[in-house]
This record gives sequence, C-alpha cells and structure tokens, in this order.
Amino acid sequence: MIPLDWHLFETGHCLHPEASSRIGASWRACEFPSLVALLRHPRHGWILFDTGYGQAFMDATRRWPERLYRAVTPVRWRPSQSAAAQLHARGIEAASVAHVVISHFHGDHVGALADFPAARVWCDRTAWHELHGRHRLTALAHGLLPALAPQYIDRRINFYDQSGVERLSPDLAPFHAGHDLFGDGSVLAVPLPGHATGHFGVCFRGPSEWVFLVGDAAWSSRAILDNLPPPRWATGMLGDTEAYRRSLAALHALAARGGPVRLVPAHCREARR
Ligand SMILES: [Zn+2]
Repeated sequence: MIPLDWHLFETGHCLHPEASSRIGASWRACEFPSLVALLRHPRHGWILFDTGYGQAFMDATRRWPERLYRAVTPVRWRPSQSAAAQLHARGIEAASVAHVVISHFHGDHVGALADFPAARVWCDRTAWHELHGRHRLTALAHGLLPALAPQYIDRRINFYDQSGVERLSPDLAPFHAGHDLFGDGSVLAVPLPGHATGHFGVCFRGPSEWVFLVGDAAWSSRAILDNLPPPRWATGMLGDTEAYRRSLAALHALAARGGPVRLVPAHCREARR
C-alpha cells in the first residue's frame, strides 16, 4: 500500500438552508464550501478528486434556464478560488494534472473540469450516459449541466467498471471493496449510492491514516457522526432516498468504530477548517 500525500482546497461555496442537508437543522442559509482534494501518486502524478466551481460553471449558469441553478443555490466564487488557480499558486500547472476522479456530475463537482484538458477523467458509466441522455430541463432539475462535461471528452473517460475490484482494508469495514484505479491498490473508487446516479467516493492511504473522500454521501462530518440524512424531499429530488440512507448508515458505522480513518464530505465546514 502506497501512502499518498494529499491536500484539500476550497473552490468557493454556495448558500443553502442547512435544513436541506440534515434532518432537524435550521432553515437559515449556511455556507457550504466546495472542497476538492489533490493527491500525489509517485508514479501517476497529480490526481484531483472533483473540480469544484470554475469559470465554466459561472458561464454555464449565466443564462436561463440554467441560471435557476444559481438562483436555488447562490454561489460565491472568485477566479482565484478555482482549483487551477490554487494549484498554479503552489507551482503546479493544470496541464500536469494527469487524472480527475469524479464523484458525480453535479455542477459544483465538475464546474472546472474544462481547466484540466490533459487529464484522464474517471467516472461512473451510468452517470456519464445519464448526463448526456437527459433533456436539458430534466438534467437541470437533477443538478446536471452537460456543458461542463461535453460528450467529445469521451476519449479521455475511464469508467470505474473498467478497473478491477480490490478488497479494502478491514479498517474500512463495513466497506469491503472498490475499483482499483491504478492496479496498485493505491486509489480505490467505492460506490456510495443514493445522492445522485453513479455516486462514488475514493479511499486511499494518507501519510498517517486512511482517507475516505465521500463526496456528497453526507453534507457534513456531523451528519455522519449523528447518522442524520437530509430530509426525504431533498434526497428524493436528486436521487434515491433509501440508497442514500444505507450509504450514510454505513459511513456512520465506519466513523462510530473510531478507527484510523478520516472521512471527508465534499461540503463539510469542519473539513474546510
Ligand atoms: Zn451533489
């Protein structure tokens, strides 16, 4: 097992009632940061998990009806917050990012995919076909903006199911297996169904503990610790409520054991700190 260095970046945030993210939470609008992770693989180079917001997202949501996306979840973003700009500030050029691993195709996760034109893009097969198979309006109603991941990039796409399945460390139970993206056990894509079609997280060994980037399977670390899902109207609108709750309950069981695992939800304010 190769331990990987990694770093979290905040690529802007949106405002949304907390009550839509966790049963029983308040209706006041809260900031939900959009976090992306950069991993360094000794052989495969820079790997980005999700891309966060970017100029392409702002452009894609400028006009109606796509503007509805920003009307429902107002976005606060500056160009200096894009993943590419923050990588550049650390001396890493976007063109040298070799892999972008996508949890799912909601606009806040692929909003800057266009900034990484040299990267192989890893995603779920069904999610990719759904993104391009829906009518513009039903796509929008599901948080999907096909313009952010245009069909012509399909020559750069790797589907998770093209990689072999490996067993996970017992430390990660009740999760048992994931798609071994590089064939060396270093980065495993683990299905976390429910939030959106083909939603995946990623597990890898960090310098001191396991890291499980869980995307939108939970909106906060607190939701995992308390096993508190969003209300049914929220999960039912975007995905599958029962599947979401099973994924969250499994994450809760993992967290409750208190093992050497760090769980990182994509919009968590604690992870942001
Ligand atoms: Zn999402």
